Amino acid sequence: TTRIERHHYDVVVIGAGGAGLRAAIEARLAGKKTAIISKSLFGKAHTVMAEGGAAAAMGNANSRDNWQVHFRDTMRGGKFLNNFRMAELHAKESPQRIWELETYGALFDRTKDGKISQRNFGGHEYPRLAHVGDRTGLELIRTLQQKIVSLQQEDKRDHGSYDARIKVFAETTVTELLLDGDRVAGAFGYYRESGEFVLFEAPSVVLATGGVGRSYKVTSNSWEYTGDGHALALRAGATLINMEFLQFHPTGMVWPVSVKGILVTESVRGDGGVLKNSDGKRFMFDYVPDVFRKQYAETEEEADRWYTDPDNNRRPPELLPRDEVARAINSEVKAGRGTPSGGVFLDIASRKPAEEIRRRLPSMYHQFKELADVDITKEPMEVGPTCHYVMGGVEVDPDSGAAFGHVRGLFAAGEVSGGMHGSNRLGGNSLSDLLVFGKRAGGHAASYADSLPARPKVGIAAVEAAVETALAPLQRDTGENPYTLQQDLQVVMGDMVGIIRREGELEDALIRLAELRERVAKVSASGGRRYNPGWHLALDLRNMLVVSECTAKAALERRESRGGHTREDHPAMDPTWRRVNLVCSLDGDTVCLERKPLPKMRPELIGLFDRAELAKYLTDEELAEFDAHVA
Ligand code: FAD
Repeated sequence: TTRIERHHYDVVVIGAGGAGLRAAIEARLAGKKTAIISKSLFGKAHTVMAEGGAAAAMGNANSRDNWQVHFRDTMRGGKFLNNFRMAELHAKESPQRIWELETYGALFDRTKDGKISQRNFGGHEYPRLAHVGDRTGLELIRTLQQKIVSLQQEDKRDHGSYDARIKVFAETTVTELLLDGDRVAGAFGYYRESGEFVLFEAPSVVLATGGVGRSYKVTSNSWEYTGDGHALALRAGATLINMEFLQFHPTGMVWPVSVKGILVTESVRGDGGVLKNSDGKRFMFDYVPDVFRKQYAETEEEADRWYTDPDNNRRPPELLPRDEVARAINSEVKAGRGTPSGGVFLDIASRKPAEEIRRRLPSMYHQFKELADVDITKEPMEVGPTCHYVMGGVEVDPDSGAAFGHVRGLFAAGEVSGGMHGSNRLGGNSLSDLLVFGKRAGGHAASYADSLPARPKVGIAAVEAAVETALAPLQRDTGENPYTLQQDLQVVMGDMVGIIRREGELEDALIRLAELRERVAKVSASGGRRYNPGWHLALDLRNMLVVSECTAKAALERRESRGGHTREDHPAMDPTWRRVNLVCSLDGDTVCLERKPLPKMRPELIGLFDRAELAKYLTDEELAEFDAHVA
């Protein structure tokens, strides 16, 4: 028989990025015995890589900023497909979450008068990103971890053990959620180092597993982002929304090939950097779409004046939302105006003194120096789009983070959840999202655990099935190698479900994904259970595959272009599609797709926009309703 270590908790949080840590803190503050599980080393999550900052309308850099303006920007960025309630909670609660972080010990950069400094970012009307140089995520993770340590010290004092009420299981991968009927009963996984299995019995599980980028070849995401939480949710009976919307960040490194995809922070543009093609032209002026025309400068002179006098000038088009900039770069390269390595130039060297570049963008300076031998204070960078963030995710109740579908006791927060960012996320809105919804999910997971008259039970059959699935790749010796399969998947997703999409290619992609699914079902991994990355990847592949299928299916179904979904054969944004969410679920092994109406924005929220702006997004019917309400 297989040995399985067992643990009992009130709340199990899967993921130790910002969302997971903030959720765990909240559950522990509510007195719950809480486990934090993370696939990577503790402290190593995407959150730690976040550079630019966390968006919160504190109004420190411009006193006109407030939650209403932030809400408007977020809805515009998402092209009005956002879950309005999430966008509202996020805009209202972000400042408190940032200030709270200071009480945990965070040290943000300061304005001259000692307030938290806020920097400009694409799509944000005012400087809004609280930051620590270009290493904001590091500070966020550092202080959340520090808070956890301080809670563990309290527990040592009061209960005699640091682990009494909050324990971290690092380098531990969850492969399965266990259910009792339609209720969550626990999570099953393995220690990466020993390959030993571990079972967590718990009535509440919070998914905080981050993104899906590893299904793409060119990505800013690191190895662990294989859509595990998305797939776990689906298999447990929950639903995913907006899976067609992926954010291709406009500026990833394109050279050298070995580091292709690594992120170049948007702060470079926020701080004055400009994009140029091989003719030396600042091309973004040619790509301002009508919906944004009024807010963006028409000449280089006006754009340059904006950095020092934002009240009397309009923003530079380099600071359009990311989907617009990524498409523009793609078009320039396609038209033959790209750099030798197939990107465009990002120039900060000619715009700022060397000393200021090194001070404000220290990580970028080192990244280019070390990886590409480029001195960004002297030469331009070469950049191009890279798969960065998934807007789609677990469909949740906006206030509590509870997953929809046929499962109770499952919560999701952070990048793994869907709805908040609509069709496109604004930079900086993720770090604040993690804090706002991490806290909410952790709190509600705790009260859900309290509300149960009896604990759900883990059934033996489910555990045996989980063991069998996990061991299968090691027991087969005729199947394909997991690395080949991942590469093939990346080619399908990158070439056919990438930044620009077409009907025929999406149909082909679905056929190729079905073939890949058969091949993955027979994958084999050589070697044993002790630290075996091939085996780990073999297990991740089935998650990547089902999530990729959701993306491809939804991308085929949505016959319009919006945010992170561009259809060459349906290039316009279509107001009737704005009213539709595409919802994925699993029926056995089959991915099902359903159309579901978007929740209606409350009148006082819709009233925050001009009618002229609404007319660009809403159907005539919706506008008539708006007019009736105003009258
Ligand atoms: P993550 O921080 O991604 O953490 C996920 C956790 O889940 C990890 O601990 C992982 O090990 C764990 N996990 C995954 N699968 C499993 C499993 N099966 N079992 C157990 N554990 C699992 N956003 C901003 O707002 N501002 C920025 O400036 C910014 N810069 C960025 C720069 C880079 C290079 C990248 C990649 C992203 C950036 N983002 C930024 C986006 C933002 O960092 C992420 O969206 C955010 O950190 C996600 O946080 P999270 O808590 O949801 O998950």
